[in-house]
Amino acid sequence: MSISNTAIPLEIRRVIFEKFNDTNTRFTNDEILEILKGNGLDGSITIDDVEPFFNQLRDDGLIRQIAQNFTTNWYKLFDVVEKIKCNSCNKEVYLGKLEPRVCPNSECKATL
Ligand SMILES: [Zn+2]
Repeated sequence: MSISNTAIPLEIRRVIFEKFNDTNTRFTNDEILEILKGNGLDGSITIDDVEPFFNQLRDDGLIRQIAQNFTTNWYKLFDVVEKIKCNSCNKEVYLGKLEPRVCPNSECKATL
């Protein structure tokens, strides 16, 4: 199994939902990258490679950055994440409760 660039942000959302779905929990980009590699993400992908995806999730209003130490960023959720089945692309997607009800699949973007 491999994870495409389109899928990486969706996979990050899924990991947050499964492992860190609590507004009091702190998590890092390093922890999530390691979990993604355990799930089949190419081992050569670096924390710098996934930085734009974390920035996107921050700009989308899913996560907020609370601390930084070199390339390690600590985040918390703005609100809990919900699993939603998108009827347009048929994927299960994960949205924070405060986010706009738009499918986060960049190839879909349907209103949910
Ligand atoms: Zn969709």
